[in-house]
Amino acid sequence: MAHPGDDVFTYANEEPAPLADGPAPASAPVWQVLIVDDEPDVHAATVLALKGLQVQGRALAFSHAESAAQARALLAQRPDFAVALIDVVMESDDAGLQLVRHIREELGNLALRIILRTGQPGYAPEIDTIARYDINDYKTKSELTQVRLFTSLTMALRSYAQIRQLQAGRRGLEKILAATAVLGQTMGLQAFASGLVTQLCALLDLPEDGLVCAAAQADGGARAPYVLAAAGQYGAWMGLALADVPDPRVRQVLQQTLARRAHGYECGAGLFFDGGRGLALAAYVDIARPLEALERGLLEVFCSNIAVAFENLQLYLQIKELAFHDALVGLPNRNALAAAIDLRSPEQDTVALLDLDNFADINSVLDPSYGDAVLQAVAQQLQACFAPSTVVARLGGDLFGLLGTAAQVTPECIAQAFAQPLALAEGEPLRLSVTAGLVQLNIDGVSGGAAVLKNASAALKQAKRFARGKALYFEAAQADAARERIQLLNRLRASFSEERLFLHYQPFIALRTGRVVGAECLLRWKNAQGQFVPPDRFIPLAEQSGLMVPIGEWVARTALAWRKSLGDAVAADFRVAINVSHVQFVEPDFVPRFLAILDEAGVPGPQVEVELTESVAIENVGQLAHKLEQLRARGIRVAMDDFGTGYSSLSIIQGLQLDRLKIDRSFVSGAQAEAGAFEIARTILTLARHLHLATIAEGIETTAQRDALRGAGCEEGQGYLFSPPLDAQAFRDWLAQQPRT
Ligand code: C2E
Ligand code: MG
Ligand code: MG
Repeated sequence: MAHPGDDVFTYANEEPAPLADGPAPASAPVWQVLIVDDEPDVHAATVLALKGLQVQGRALAFSHAESAAQARALLAQRPDFAVALIDVVMESDDAGLQLVRHIREELGNLALRIILRTGQPGYAPEIDTIARYDINDYKTKSELTQVRLFTSLTMALRSYAQIRQLQAGRRGLEKILAATAVLGQTMGLQAFASGLVTQLCALLDLPEDGLVCAAAQADGGARAPYVLAAAGQYGAWMGLALADVPDPRVRQVLQQTLARRAHGYECGAGLFFDGGRGLALAAYVDIARPLEALERGLLEVFCSNIAVAFENLQLYLQIKELAFHDALVGLPNRNALAAAIDLRSPEQDTVALLDLDNFADINSVLDPSYGDAVLQAVAQQLQACFAPSTVVARLGGDLFGLLGTAAQVTPECIAQAFAQPLALAEGEPLRLSVTAGLVQLNIDGVSGGAAVLKNASAALKQAKRFARGKALYFEAAQADAARERIQLLNRLRASFSEERLFLHYQPFIALRTGRVVGAECLLRWKNAQGQFVPPDRFIPLAEQSGLMVPIGEWVARTALAWRKSLGDAVAADFRVAINVSHVQFVEPDFVPRFLAILDEAGVPGPQVEVELTESVAIENVGQLAHKLEQLRARGIRVAMDDFGTGYSSLSIIQGLQLDRLKIDRSFVSGAQAEAGAFEIARTILTLARHLHLATIAEGIETTAQRDALRGAGCEEGQGYLFSPPLDAQAFRDWLAQQPRT
């Protein structure tokens, strides 16, 4: 629409603006500018006026719309316009303003910069319209001289660039947060690497085929660098040694990245992730274009976030490796066999325990390294005869275990495995005999790994007594064991109703200061003969029989009353730790009942800690998290007991709201600790630091153990060194002897 008095553009008196920085290279990106005006002259004049202008090294490319309607159609198709120069008066007096509203509100395009122009001052939009629709500039065409147009457009383009950068940055950060969450949940190295590939592609908006991820031992390690994950066109390289990767460019980038231990952007991008524990990852991203500064910045944030998730995974895998692996013979250990029994398939219904006959003699007569060599040879022999579908484990000393099908694990097969003399690395072949006890799980009816192993060892004991050098099923032993269990359970039930259960309390000590910070309550049962039955024996029975829930409530009530009774004898933050079995915890009303007991006792939540074992993770994780949240909302803290011996996943531990990891005593004072597995304790402490969890170690018996744990950053400890579990009176006496801090 032309208007009288439209004084189109007067440029004559003005110097043209200088060109920015010389002509742009042909391939450089351009600024897309949209001119919306119903007068053809205006289009031509604008293009002419802006000819040769460059902003931030980029030239301009113009598109034209002769009406608001045309502009709408164009904008709907193309999100890449940086600036629109819009005439206010076109199809209608406010067609331009309506177009602006459409752009902001309907298209949701907030980045596009808008310069409004009109032939007549009377059509100026209200100030608040300018603000609401984020209009950069409003000028009558007569005001808009060439220089002003240059300036106005330059400013609009600059602010467009900033807005895009902010938008991209925010999107990138959102992606990074999501990626960190996803990768933090993965369990294995392989899954982690594949996830890394996916998340990196998403971050950089790349199709998922430009990526390879290689792993290498930082110290040069046993395995040469290899391709751990690869996507799309590179998928076939999975598992290849890095040296065999066919594309020299990709190979070089990955090799260089691993060698430099740093990111590099010369050829695509080589990204480096340090696992911290001997393992490093390098990822190759195939990007033809140079990366923008923002993208690099985002990548670095991504990498440092992911590196933390990766290191946690490494720590966790290492804990599992150490806790489930026998280093001497390279077989799964007792923990691992118990876990395998827990998780077995229905066909895997036979467990055997094998004891080498006269091994003590071999070991004491000849030197101990000969004994080690014999054990290693036995391990190899068993693996050769039974693996891979049978689990072969070493439980300690000369005790080996098998888990397999009834057809695989038979007395005959075991005899067969030892029929030939053992080939030793050095010295004469050695003929050995073994005694074995076999347990058929489906007949026995016991299912938990620890309980099965206990039965199997009862069977082995009988075999050793009556059938040395043979492998026998001991159904009789099982029957005995079952009968004994039922008797024990009946006695426990009676004792509970006769109130013959009681609690002992064992203090927690802050390792740096020696301060008494709390105590764990431990259930005690003295049977009718006046003997203590260890909780490890009767608690599993109570759990299987449903008796655990009422006993557990009694424990909580008693422990809280005890805490209350301590009064001023302890500091206000002294906490009582209560063990909660997973059968209690999975009860749907566990939390409300526990909180009711707490209220009844009148003990503040922060004076209470709940100790759970990793077996609670068998519950639906969502429910589990919800229950923990409810406890923690009342200030009750949650510790993961016997940490390192279970087999919950890292994702579960990370996903749960825990306060503390409690390092199992086997990693502190047991055989494992002596055999160098103090390493596990150290690894757990590092993991806890990463996950911002407090730590306590149980089973501290010597000052050397205490000092080592303290040195490794463990905050608190519990164990015979400080005090055994004590009854209420003895605990008070003990407290009285402690220096007040
Ligand atoms: P836990 O919760 O890991 O308890 C620590 C165990 O380590 C206790 O064994 C304690 O007596 C023992 N201990 C403490 N200091 C040392 C030390 O310096 N050296 C050694 N070798 N051992 C030490 P306890 O009392 O036999 O309890 C065994 C397990 O029975 C507990 O392990 C816990 O899982 C379970 N338990 C005990 N009381 C309860 C209870 O009230 N409820 C439930 N659900 N479980 C309980
Ligand atoms: Mg405990
Ligand atoms: Mg424990």
